Amino acid sequence: MQHGRGGVDDAAPPVVLEVDLGPGVRAGFTTRAGGVSPEPWQSLNLGLNVTDDAARVRANRARAGAWLGAPVAFASQVHGTDVAVVTDRGSAADSVGEADAMVAVAAGVGLGVLVADCVPVLLADVEAGVVGVAHAGRRGLAHGVVPAVLDAMRSAGASVGRVRAAVGPSACGRCYEVPATMRDEVALARPATWSTTTWGTPALDLPAGVVADLEAAGVADVVHVGACTIEDERFFSHRRAARGGSTTGRFAGLVALAGA
Ligand SMILES: [Zn+2]
Repeated sequence: MQHGRGGVDDAAPPVVLEVDLGPGVRAGFTTRAGGVSPEPWQSLNLGLNVTDDAARVRANRARAGAWLGAPVAFASQVHGTDVAVVTDRGSAADSVGEADAMVAVAAGVGLGVLVADCVPVLLADVEAGVVGVAHAGRRGLAHGVVPAVLDAMRSAGASVGRVRAAVGPSACGRCYEVPATMRDEVALARPATWSTTTWGTPALDLPAGVVADLEAAGVADVVHVGACTIEDERFFSHRRAARGGSTTGRFAGLVALAGA
């Protein structure tokens, strides 16, 4: 199909950092590249409610689903610890409801977790045929969203010892500056998060907290995609955008059991 310059079908396909969670599982982290949204969401913005046009976001979500090989379910993330069990292959609705983690056991059900500095976590137990995602921001992490999603996977038949996890691009512990009281509060619940910026002020290392939670639960196989969203402009970053007085989009961690 031929369309004019800037038309939807002119956009290049999504650029996704693929991760290996085992045979029969498709998983990866999207970047900004390969969508249809203009600045400041340029271009693969997958988040609704960031003032981007909903039709463009849905088009971008379809592009992400095409990469994944399954329609992608997204939740309305509220920095909590609730886990949604997604069973509907055709989860075409904008949201499966309020949740910060999701689990699926059926092939062809895509799960997506939206972030722009928070930590996206992808999980799979290939043998049990169970996949999961979690959105680990500072509040969700402190309140236990990582053990919560592992519990839900266990209830769905997974064995935590067999789970492979990928911890995606997020704000790093050398950049994610917070007030000292906030660092103390979060580090009380998750000691591994205690950090200091490169310029010597209090910070939180959220990915370190996620990795510590996974290891404490018995997940032996953890891949950390070390990219920092604040430093690496391939990704959307809420902090970087806010510093420039702008809004931004959301990228996603995606996972699905391959075709039924
Ligand atoms: Zn950083």
